Amino acid sequence: MTLRLYNTLTRQKAEFKPIDASNVRMYVCGPTVYDFAHIGNARPVIVFDVLYRLLRHIYGADHVTYVRNITDVDDKINARAAERYPDLAPELAIRKLTEETANQFHADIAALGVLAPNVEPRATEHIVEMVELCDALIANGHAYVAADHVLFDVSSMPDYGRLSNRSLDEMEAGARVEVAPYKKGPMDFVLWKPSKPGEPSWSSPAGIAVAGRPGWHIECSAMAGKHLGNVFDIHGGGIDLAFPHHENEIAQSRCAHGTPVMANVWMHNGFLQVEGEKMSKSLGNFITINELLATTSFGGSQWHGRVVRLAMLGTHYRQPIDWTVDRLVQARATLFDLSFLHDVVPAAEPHPDVIAALADDLNTPSAMSIVHGLAKSAHRNADQAAELKATLQFLGVYDSETQHDLDPGHLARQVDASHVNRLIAARLVARKAKDFVESDRIRDELSAMGVALNDTKNKGTGEIETTWEVRR
Ligand SMILES: [Zn+2]
Repeated sequence: MTLRLYNTLTRQKAEFKPIDASNVRMYVCGPTVYDFAHIGNARPVIVFDVLYRLLRHIYGADHVTYVRNITDVDDKINARAAERYPDLAPELAIRKLTEETANQFHADIAALGVLAPNVEPRATEHIVEMVELCDALIANGHAYVAADHVLFDVSSMPDYGRLSNRSLDEMEAGARVEVAPYKKGPMDFVLWKPSKPGEPSWSSPAGIAVAGRPGWHIECSAMAGKHLGNVFDIHGGGIDLAFPHHENEIAQSRCAHGTPVMANVWMHNGFLQVEGEKMSKSLGNFITINELLATTSFGGSQWHGRVVRLAMLGTHYRQPIDWTVDRLVQARATLFDLSFLHDVVPAAEPHPDVIAALADDLNTPSAMSIVHGLAKSAHRNADQAAELKATLQFLGVYDSETQHDLDPGHLARQVDASHVNRLIAARLVARKAKDFVESDRIRDELSAMGVALNDTKNKGTGEIETTWEVRR
């Protein structure tokens, strides 16, 4: 089995060769726990879960170490904790907020069929390692102390910017934000900063008298180094993290350890937009994973976690993804079509063609089209049905513990019946008023939710009556 992966660092797809095949090591940047994770956050979680499953398949489940961190020190956390729990002492408020948010994150992504990573380090449990990194970088001339901060001296690293393919001159010319006066160069970034009263704080490195806290970038360098070593195989995250976060992780880790790379392969998933637009709170199209699963605010339906996962796998991870109601409707229809597998005993192995598609830089659209082909013949062939079920379990779109996932009745209940009935009533009003533009629009809206309408004339009253069902 040859696994080929696209590497952002080399801008090429190449054969993946682990440093140690008995322990393949991968790090993925995890959530900053201050608010519900949104659907854009779900993308790397699902993408790298597929890669984790594939690596376990190829190298053996006991020969892969997957680390995904939790960032629980951050300015946004401090601000949100004070806002939400004004009556608690800051330390308690922060602990309460980060614990609640981390629990919510775990519950949300479990519904998406995501396996737990092998290690889930928290930044607050790795402060010692962060202080050590700061001290090492100061000692070897890559960092300096100014105004109680520790700053990384970007000019000390000739190939800073290699990952995101930017030259230092270009970056400095483009630095529009006001540069703090204590910085030697405009692109120098914070490794450690002094804490204000009420903020979390620890003893600072380099003999700085004021207690302080780490910057975000150094957190990942410290946690990755601690659990995976100075050089490891794969580092993943969203493309939005490539600069500056990953660039700065690389600078810190390589300069502290004197290594030519931090990770051999850097993988980035593409952006996510919603119905053709950038997702933002101000546009009102901001969707959390929890809303998709638990409310009917997106497309009038609650969506099963496996439907969400399947919808995500329809696009190659490096491509931008447009998150639409239609995409979810299609994924739900696919799961309906697979409900005949309900009582099938899965085979021992997933289908080799699906593994081969994933081994080609995680080609999930190709894997899904193979699944669709298999589904056609599996209706008449018990062995193929068993293999298809094993394949779906491998892809994480089917969980053996929740047999009812593929049950049409269960999926149908995700449609909000009272919302559907309101729309149908509005459509009948529009029809009576001969406003066919509006009545067609409502029918299309229902259709996008997967709801099919059936109009019949009541023989007694002559009135049109509409019944509905969830399209299979
Ligand atoms: Zn990171």
